[in-house]
Amino acid sequence: MKRWFTVLVVAVFAIAAVSLVVVQFYQMRRTISISDNMFNVAVGNAMDEVLHQLGGEEEEGGTLTYQHLDALVAEQLLLNGIDMHPAVGLYDGTQRSFLFSTDPSEEGELEVSPYRYAFQPVGVVSGNQFYIILAFSKTELFLQRNSWVYVYMTLFLVLIIVAMFFLSMRTLSVQRKLDRMKTQFINNMTHEIKTPLATISLACEMLQDPTVSQDRESQKNFISIVSDENHRLQVLVETLLQSAKMADKRYRITHKEVDLNRLMERVAGSFRLSLTKRNGTIDLQLAANPSTLMADEMHLTNLVFNLVDNGIKYSDGKPHIELSTRNVDGGIELRVQDHGMGIAKEDQKHVFERFYRVSTGDVHDVKGFGIGLSYVAEVVRLHRGTITLESEPGKGTTFIVTLPR
Ligand code: ADP
Repeated sequence: MKRWFTVLVVAVFAIAAVSLVVVQFYQMRRTISISDNMFNVAVGNAMDEVLHQLGGEEEEGGTLTYQHLDALVAEQLLLNGIDMHPAVGLYDGTQRSFLFSTDPSEEGELEVSPYRYAFQPVGVVSGNQFYIILAFSKTELFLQRNSWVYVYMTLFLVLIIVAMFFLSMRTLSVQRKLDRMKTQFINNMTHEIKTPLATISLACEMLQDPTVSQDRESQKNFISIVSDENHRLQVLVETLLQSAKMADKRYRITHKEVDLNRLMERVAGSFRLSLTKRNGTIDLQLAANPSTLMADEMHLTNLVFNLVDNGIKYSDGKPHIELSTRNVDGGIELRVQDHGMGIAKEDQKHVFERFYRVSTGDVHDVKGFGIGLSYVAEVVRLHRGTITLESEPGKGTTFIVTLPR
């Protein structure tokens, strides 16, 4: 997906979401106003009936009491579909005082309530203007309007839509990143496989050359080139294969007793020949004792191999690699240290990601896929161990792996 298209989608979505909220808000106000009108009509009808009944009773000579008024109002409200019990009072509008009310503390509220109905009781000074006033509790009115349902439902739905939108955008962006990485990976792999193949083919051609086939020294030289490149291809294919297998979450490693010190010696041995050609050295300091642990020997060998291979790959001039082991609380720690180009701080947190490669400066010249360290991290995880690195650009890097025994 192109960048401008993503921006367009986000913008259209934002406009649509805001419009939805606005439309919902107006719709909610309309519904509330209709429901308010219906409520007022129902209260009006109930009070018409109350006034009518009170008028009849007065003609028969009855006196109005608070209890009677209160009960009558509640009854008529209920008959009109309003199951509420408002505060009630009989108010002298001329004197600005209550003849009686539900509770003197509610008289302030009653005085300002819009639900007031003119009523003339007998037996009190005529000429004054009396009212029966009702005051509904604010919470009850709010609940009656059902407005909270609209508010919460709207908010909830909008939240879900926004969350879903961001989720799909994120998935799209991850997909895009993966796509880019895949292309990059295929490019790297083609390059990585083509180079040793070309070298092997060239070395074979040279070996067939009559002048070379007569010179023992040149012959040995070309055979060792073929062997080295072949070895490199093997490790490459092995790492690719193993890391693809490990992508399956159900992948399990096999545990058996492994002597870590011996394993480190073997890996160091396999690098000695190629290191002497570059005047490099590899030092061992195997202090772990006991040095055995339950582990998958093949993966552990590949792990150390990858770390040493990187140490050599990312060292200019004469590589100097130090391997060490020691016992730590509950496990064994192994260190692979080089004095090479090091890793910048901002790259350190990414180097264990699949396909990640430092893409600046000299590092670019070194061949690789960006798979080695992600494989190493996966092996450590499967062994329930930990891996950290200490590095300073220009000074070198140390990988520290701790494995439980
Ligand atoms: P690859 O070496 O195939 O590129 P890795 O996963 O092994 O992939 O390493 C990822 C990146 O981390 C490398 O591209 C490199 O930039 C950096 N890196 C790994 N090991 C070292 C090291 N010992 N010294 C400096 N940089 C390193």
